[in-house]
Amino acid sequence: MTTNGRLLNYINGEWRQSAAADYLEVVNPATSEVLAQVPLSPAAEVDEAAQAAALAFEEWRRVPAVDRIQYLFKLKFLLEEHFEEISRTITMECGKTIGESRGEMRRAIENVEVACGIPMMMQGDMSEDIASGIDELMIRQPVGVCAAIAPFNFPGMIAFWFMPYALACGNTYLVKPSEKVPLTMHKIFELLEQAGFPEGVVNMVNGSKEAVDAILDHPAIKAISFVGSTPVAKYVYSRGSANGKRVQAQGGAKNPIIVLPDADMEMTKRITADSAFGCAGQRCLAASVAVTVGDAHQPFSEAIAEAAASRVVGYGLDEGVQMGPVINQASQTRIESLIQQGIDSGATAVVDGRSPTISGFENGSFVRPTVLQNVDPAGEIAKTEIFGPVLSLIHVNTIDDAIKYVNSGQYGNMACLFTSSGAAARKFRYEVDAGNIGINVGVAAPMAFFPFSGWKESFFGTLHGQGNHAVEFFTQTKVVVERWPKQWSRQF
Ligand code: NAD
Repeated sequence: MTTNGRLLNYINGEWRQSAAADYLEVVNPATSEVLAQVPLSPAAEVDEAAQAAALAFEEWRRVPAVDRIQYLFKLKFLLEEHFEEISRTITMECGKTIGESRGEMRRAIENVEVACGIPMMMQGDMSEDIASGIDELMIRQPVGVCAAIAPFNFPGMIAFWFMPYALACGNTYLVKPSEKVPLTMHKIFELLEQAGFPEGVVNMVNGSKEAVDAILDHPAIKAISFVGSTPVAKYVYSRGSANGKRVQAQGGAKNPIIVLPDADMEMTKRITADSAFGCAGQRCLAASVAVTVGDAHQPFSEAIAEAAASRVVGYGLDEGVQMGPVINQASQTRIESLIQQGIDSGATAVVDGRSPTISGFENGSFVRPTVLQNVDPAGEIAKTEIFGPVLSLIHVNTIDDAIKYVNSGQYGNMACLFTSSGAAARKFRYEVDAGNIGINVGVAAPMAFFPFSGWKESFFGTLHGQGNHAVEFFTQTKVVVERWPKQWSRQF
């Protein structure tokens, strides 16, 4: 919903124009076309949404869970019906290929499907006769108004790690999309409206820091799910927690993959290329460093360089394109300067993807796949999140050296091992400090019915998004002890 290309907020069941003083342009990163203007909403509009959600909560929590999920069933079918249109919107505002956008929306829908199991997932426990005539039970109740603050790289999916579970559990909701890619969530909110959720149950406020701060400080908001970079995740976690809220804050990453000499090199090359260069490397589970052990070095480095050089880069809506642009010009400049920094500190760019010309898309923000060899394991480039299609190669002699490097990092989002040895795989799984582990898998993204993990500076909090963790996060437990003296029962 727009007025003169200006996106609206969705508050209390209606589309409202923001009173924002500032608007940002939403730009297609492949073409530089301006798609819309997004308001940087003031705190007062977060307040309107939070108050509407708080009012709606009183009724919504009383709707039986079996009835609440009927809205999610409707939403699932609406999302299926508009699947292609939403996927195209993701590609247009975010740059990833249409296949990647479809994959993103598929995972969003899977989360709706899993949340439809809430009537069973949020069941409590009961013990009869903990003492004579006394029973004890634990029930789960919703926490109240909850909010999600999303990053740019998955405009459709990220809110779905949280929102379907929160709503199914009886909470009301507020989404603050990334100001860089707000169009996808707009389309999704049109479908939420069609699904018929009662007014105030779902709300969306666009904006950036002011809106986030208003969410962190609002007394009616009880739980916050954040996904984004580590400095902001830390800030959100500490300010939200200091205000007494539940907070789960997922941060950045620097994901290593280890290649042992006994790995299937053809498969390892293909999977690593998809991990490092898929979504133009702008994925929190993208491989960023490949650590080759012993004799794996030469065959792997040659294979991955060939895969990087031959990847088809272009507009994500075009047939056959394997990699799109990065999110904007500033990001392209930052990635290219980090590549230069790597070279200045002794690495060799065996494939250098800087300043490419993509025919027909000369104004786009493109960086081609880049492979840096001889990267210093202790240097900046081996530690910093680049968030672009750049793979650094490090060589070590043993799996222990590789695990030592992996565990020395600040982040712990994902680590992967390529091997045909079960013993090596078990050692790796056991010893590595990361929340999502892949064995012969390059993007170890948990399915909707498993929590999306993350350790160290990749996650602040205790309970993650998706699956049972989401149910725990969006409910509070109440334990009831009841005495029913026997003589009272005997009357019946
Ligand atoms: P970002 O931290 O810049 O922005 C995320 C959200 O925070 C946005 O909604 C933005 O409006 C808000 N924000 C930004 N700066 C703020 C500030 N100073 N104060 C308050 N709010 C602020 O992240 P991004 O660039 O949109 O996304 C990329 C990052 O997200 C990468 O670091 C990536 O690794 C991470 N990410 C992590 C996961 C995960 O599961 N761990 C998943 C996706 C993305």
